[in-house]
Amino acid sequence: MDLSHLDKKYFIDPHKYNCPFCKRNHVSYSLIDKFAFHWGENKVCHGYLIQCESDGCEKVSMHLSFDELRDSYAEYGRTKYRSRFADGIDIDSKLFFSQPTSYFVLDNRIPEKVRELVYEAENSRKSNYLVGASACIRKAIYELLEHEKTIIKNEKTGYADYQESIKALKQKFPSVAPELFDALGHIQEMASNQVHEGSWEAWDSKKLRFIIELTKATLHEIYVVPEERKERLGVLSQMRSAFSNSKKKPEESGEENNEK
Ligand SMILES: [Zn+2]
Repeated sequence: MDLSHLDKKYFIDPHKYNCPFCKRNHVSYSLIDKFAFHWGENKVCHGYLIQCESDGCEKVSMHLSFDELRDSYAEYGRTKYRSRFADGIDIDSKLFFSQPTSYFVLDNRIPEKVRELVYEAENSRKSNYLVGASACIRKAIYELLEHEKTIIKNEKTGYADYQESIKALKQKFPSVAPELFDALGHIQEMASNQVHEGSWEAWDSKKLRFIIELTKATLHEIYVVPEERKERLGVLSQMRSAFSNSKKKPEESGEENNEK
């Protein structure tokens, strides 16, 4: 299984991005508005409103940065800006907050407590609070294990055995790609009891990003994909019953409608 999509970018370049709303990749967007405000005495925060240009989507997301990211040019000695990001910058790395947060928007079918912790981890990471982000994502994973009642305790230490707990979670959700659980199980330092003693070190930003995206992908597979499948099957069976009703005489169709 290819996990490279977990590292997916929000903005690919000044013209293309991966839309968090319609989930289409590599689509055109436009920078429809820009604002700035004083974050602190000497710090200016720049906000960008981005609109998806896909047909039927056209939704707007908001992004904050401490840098002016627009393309600039000089005119009569003054700096002017175009309504687009400048070329040659890694846009994602310059943003410290985005709403929606990223490609895998957290669906509200995911347990609220877990969702909040992942969200907090993500925002902490973007603001470079790495200790806080590390703690939040660890807590999110433990919260998930607890929610699904798959915590397996080590008899000797009395603490949760991380790898065994993840294995139990994997067994509970056989339709989810096992690679996701295996990757979660392999996160170093999660397995250690030190987690509970607070003596671990924070992960760096890159590793954190991967762990956060991995957690989000797993949550999506556990809570969102099966529900979407059910919805699709529901629509299909409705279509089927509507189709079979239409072939019957009008007086017979009343009973069939009870079927869902
Ligand atoms: Zn879109």
